[in-house]
Order: sequence, then C-alpha cells, then structure tokens
Amino acid sequence: MTNPRQCQIVPPYLLEAIAHSHDHVAVERARESLVTDDVLRAQRLVQVQTVLAAATPPGEPHVQRLISDAQHTQTLPGKRRRGEGEGPVHDVAVNEAYDGLGATWTLYWQAFGRNSLDGSGLTLPATVHYGAGYDNAFWDGQRMVFGDGDGRIFNRFTVSVDVIGHELTHGVTQVTAGLLYNGQSGALNESLSDVFGSLVKQHALGQSANDADWLIGQGLFTSRVKGRALRDMLNPGTAYDDPTLGKDPQPATMAGYVKTTADNGGVHVNSGIPNRAFALAARAIGGFAWEGAGAIWYAVLTGGAIPARCDFATFAALTITEASRAHGVDSPQHEAVAQAWTTVGVTPSGALPGTPAEADPGTLAVTRSGGFTGLMKSRTATLDALPHKDAEAWRTLLEGDQLAQFTEIPGHPDAFQYTVCANGEVLCASDNALPSRIVHLIERFLDEAPGAP
Ligand SMILES: [Zn+2]
Repeated sequence: MTNPRQCQIVPPYLLEAIAHSHDHVAVERARESLVTDDVLRAQRLVQVQTVLAAATPPGEPHVQRLISDAQHTQTLPGKRRRGEGEGPVHDVAVNEAYDGLGATWTLYWQAFGRNSLDGSGLTLPATVHYGAGYDNAFWDGQRMVFGDGDGRIFNRFTVSVDVIGHELTHGVTQVTAGLLYNGQSGALNESLSDVFGSLVKQHALGQSANDADWLIGQGLFTSRVKGRALRDMLNPGTAYDDPTLGKDPQPATMAGYVKTTADNGGVHVNSGIPNRAFALAARAIGGFAWEGAGAIWYAVLTGGAIPARCDFATFAALTITEASRAHGVDSPQHEAVAQAWTTVGVTPSGALPGTPAEADPGTLAVTRSGGFTGLMKSRTATLDALPHKDAEAWRTLLEGDQLAQFTEIPGHPDAFQYTVCANGEVLCASDNALPSRIVHLIERFLDEAPGAP
C-alpha cells in the first residue's frame, strides 16, 4: 500500500538539489532528512496496517486531535502538548498543527460528509518539532509529523495549511482508491493530495475557485528562496526558480510529461498535469471549488471504479463520466471538465459523449481509442437494442465480471484500447489482452448503427 516517500511534502529531488548545493547548513539538514526518510519508510509499512484499528467510537461526529512535541528528537509520539478542546499553548507550531488538522477534518465533513480520513472518526494525532532542522512533513500511516525546517530554505512545516491537508489526504487515498505510488497512478495519488490540500485552504479562507492562489506550500520557503511556493497547480513549472533549488520541474501539459525512474517515476513532477486540469475545471465551473470540481473528484476518488494502476486517461474519463452523471451530458460542469483535460493534453480513454446522465443498469457504453491513428470511436446503447445473441453474450460477460481479468495486461504499442462502461463500472483493456470472441463482440457493438435492432 504505502511506498517509499509516499507521504512527504518535499520531493526527494528537491532535497537532493539542496544536498548538492553550497549552503553547508542547508546541505547537512537536507542529507539528514533524506537518510531519516529511508528509515521511516520501513516503519510506515508496518504502521499502515494499524490505521483502521485506531478509529474512535461512533457518535456525533467531531474532530479528535492530539498534538505532541518530539522536542527535536526523532522519537514518536513525543510529549503531549494539546488535546481536543484545549486552548492554545505558547508554541506556534503546536497551534498551527491543531488548527490545520481541524481545517482538514472540517473540509471533509462539511463538503463531503466524510468523518475523518477513514470515514469513521479516526483520531488525528500529530507531532511537531520532529528532528533537528528536519526538512519535511509526512503522514506515517498513523500520525502527521512536522519538521521545523532548516530555517535557511524551509520554514517550519506547519506554516501552510494545504501541506497538512495534502499529507492527510494520502491517508484518505490509502483507504479508498489505493492508487499505486508509481508512474501515472502515483502522480494521480500526489495530485489528489494537492487538490484536497488546496481545497482545505480555500474552504478555511472561504475563497472561490477564482480567488484562490492554487499554490501548494506558500510560506514554506524562507525569504532567501526565489519562489512563491513548492508547487503552482494553475501554472505548473513556475512556482520557483532559484540558484540552489533550480527551477520548478513540473510540466503543464502531457507534451512535457517526464519519463524517469527517479521519484517513483516522477510522481511529484507529473502531478502538475492533473493538478492543472483540476484548477482549470474548478475555475471554469466557478463558485467554491469544493462544491464544483471538488465534488466530482471526490466522487471518483471514493467511488470504487478507479483502478489501483489508474492512468491519466482513465482518470480523466472517470471525472468526465462523473460530471455527466451528476450534472447531465450538456451541463457546464461536463463541458468544463472535458475541456480542462483537453487543455492539458490528456485524451480520456473512456470519454463517452453519449454516456447517460443516470447510470441505467441496462445501458452499455463502449469506446475504442488508441491505435496508430489515435482516432476514437464510441457508442452507447441499451442491451435490449442489440441482437438477442449479442445481448445475451454481453450479459454473461458483465455479470461474471469476466472483463476485469484483462484490464491489467499491458497493451502493445499502437494497440486499440477498449473502454467499457456498464453498471457504474469502467473497464479498460487493450485488444491484444482480450480473447478474439470478446474483441469481435465489442467491434460488432461499435459497428451497429445507433438505435439499430
Ligand atoms: Zn505527497
């Protein structure tokens, strides 16, 4: 489930850039943070399993927080400093953590009706003053942990409420979509943390999508750094340009997609693409982003149709389908989400113009994408509209969940990609992965004139 560096706000390439710079104090802190992160990785794998065990008893939902102080050591949880309902203490990091956890819980509860990360009132514990000048913040599967930063490049990590929302959202993704932390599914995992992290901040400030700054980690850099924030969701690649850190490497479109084995396949870099799609959709829909695009993204994150190895194209298709399901095919929301993905250069693998607004159990929607030409073909029809033999074959196929076994088989280059939407499920498979009888069934469906008996 959890993978190396899943839960850290500062990407490893940034710490490595500092570790090779000429700022000796910052170099030492960054190197310590990199080493510590490797140790934590092993601990997290064990701790993930205990998340659900810590849920509070059912009752009237309210946030449960407990803030501790590691007193500059790496011993967790540290000394108890502030529990739920207790007043502020004389330590700004404790109070910021307390408020940030509260803001995150409030967004999930008020906007989405979700009681804490697991939906069952999980207590939110946090530890501040972790390590000496530790350059990171992370969710270890049980608690939020905040470093103080080195004071030269990074300020204390409690300073940005969206950083707190980002880390806790890794916990939500862990218990819902379970997106694998590698490649495109890893970049989606990162992006969802930025999306809901930013929504925590917007919700707390009462900002509309058009008033929001769409920055992640504003205030995290000291005044010595030439940069506005760690990431810019609306304008990826422009957050910083600094002699020590280098330039923000995030691409704004698929044309700039970075193929790398570093950073789990560039999860903190390529997340810029879906980040921008969300920000564009949210601004086009207008109003509060948690009510517009946020509700669509949340439904996809928690809806159960998202595969663990989801790629950008499938995620795009799921959000477009959800927008039409919730608001209608001709709605401004549907248009805004589809246009946002087009702008960032992601072609949805299941963009179904005819997807019905209500998920009719007897309705089938199929798209063929990919292939050398990349031309798309799609059709939506009820099973009753098909020739009897084909309708029966589809029912057998869908009821037995037979297609699922083919979805993980990688497609050949230029292979056709089929997306089948039925019964609220979206399944994608390449033609080389499917038995020929199924390919023929799909092709017959696509070839039938709409409405033909
Ligand atoms: Zn993250």
